[in-house]
Amino acid sequence: MADEVVIVGSGIAGLAAAYRLARDHDVLLVDRSGIGEGTSSRASGVLTAPVDYPDQPAWSAHATQFFSDLDGTGTFSWIEREFIRGVRPADSDAAEDTARADGVSLVDADVYADVFDDDAPYERVLVWEDCGYCSVDDLLATMHREVRNRGVECRPDTAVTSVLVEDGATVGVETVYGTVEADAVVVAAGSQTRSLLADVLPLPIKKFTWNVAYLDVDVAEGYPMGGDQRLGAYWRRTRDGYLLVGVEHPYESEPSADTEATFGDRLDTVFAEELPTMLAAVDRDVNVVRYEVCPMADATTPDATGIIDAPADGPDDLVVAAGFHGAGVMAAGSIGTAVRARLTGEDAPFSLDPFALSRFDTRGPEFPFKTLFSS
Ligand SMILES: Cc1cc2nc3c(=O)[nH]c(=O)nc-3n(C[C@H](O)[C@H](O)[C@H](O)COP(=O)(O)OP(=O)(O)OC[C@H]3O[C@@H](n4cnc5c(N)ncnc54)[C@H](O)[C@@H]3O)c2cc1C
Repeated sequence: MADEVVIVGSGIAGLAAAYRLARDHDVLLVDRSGIGEGTSSRASGVLTAPVDYPDQPAWSAHATQFFSDLDGTGTFSWIEREFIRGVRPADSDAAEDTARADGVSLVDADVYADVFDDDAPYERVLVWEDCGYCSVDDLLATMHREVRNRGVECRPDTAVTSVLVEDGATVGVETVYGTVEADAVVVAAGSQTRSLLADVLPLPIKKFTWNVAYLDVDVAEGYPMGGDQRLGAYWRRTRDGYLLVGVEHPYESEPSADTEATFGDRLDTVFAEELPTMLAAVDRDVNVVRYEVCPMADATTPDATGIIDAPADGPDDLVVAAGFHGAGVMAAGSIGTAVRARLTGEDAPFSLDPFALSRFDTRGPEFPFKTLFSS
């Protein structure tokens, strides 16, 4: 077993890996920026693993259990809330397939007449239990505190410039402050993972993002979280009573000033034209309290599922954990467990196969964007 492990990247994946490894490893967590200040800090705190990992119930249950166990630690609270998705008549057969899964019910749209607009195109509604939300600031601060309490050394403002390989094995990393030797390296550098490992292990990872806005609408505590597949959007009530709405934004190429400008147009269309026809609480003149047009990229893969692997064609003692496509925070507990399993060879309480790099035939970033909402 590797004793000294360097984890590159202190987003939710790196923090979760540190959390799971700390009890019997000497862990150094390095980040080019502040601890937990990357893309993870921009997440909406929507914790819906059963929705977003529909084919992986054991993975999702483990992820949900983690939040339940962490509840009350530090400043973290896990707020349980159902997640609903309106079903158009044309999507009825697919919804029935989904409803055959455990914990997903399919009810008449009338049950949610107070949530959906009279003109909403929905016939029925899928309802997921075992979902919830949290303040991501509280989650990251609590994870940071917990890993430090477990003996992890956290080194912010320390960019890693390369992963060092000798005789086919990873031996450490080069940082802007010099070499750090280690028995194993975990690269959890989000959208930077591909470029950081370019000379070591080609990866099919590219950037995409979500953009978020807070709407001043009158929704009460207990308002269900939800989403619309065709809109590519999700929503949840915030603690201060606003409606947070997130909209998927694929980059068709590397992001630039031009692509960022189009984020705003897309959001305006969603809020002024599309959402008011779906949610009873949202009018066409809704007041957008704040836009968060997120320039910090999340990372995606050809099948929109992350890579957590110690690939056979890579150097020994290297684990990659990246590409979580809008669903990394909700999977924190399972990502950490999977990294540990890859590094130690221990069994995980779920299959690691969906995260194996070998499932991809090609390794470049030139693949079509797969929306999270089409699965
Ligand atoms: C607006 C928005 C809303 C979202 N909402 C949700 C949500 O509600 N629920 C959910 O589950 N997911 C959500 N996501 C997705 C989620 O944020 C990501 O899947 C997750 O944060 C990815 O975590 P990560 O640790 O892989 O990457 P990151 O958080 O990007 O962490 C990678 C870290 O690596 C560091 N790094 C990069 N290069 C180097 C280097 N060379 N040397 C050292 N450090 C380096 C970076 O500074 C960064 O801190 C959202 C994403 C966005 C953009």
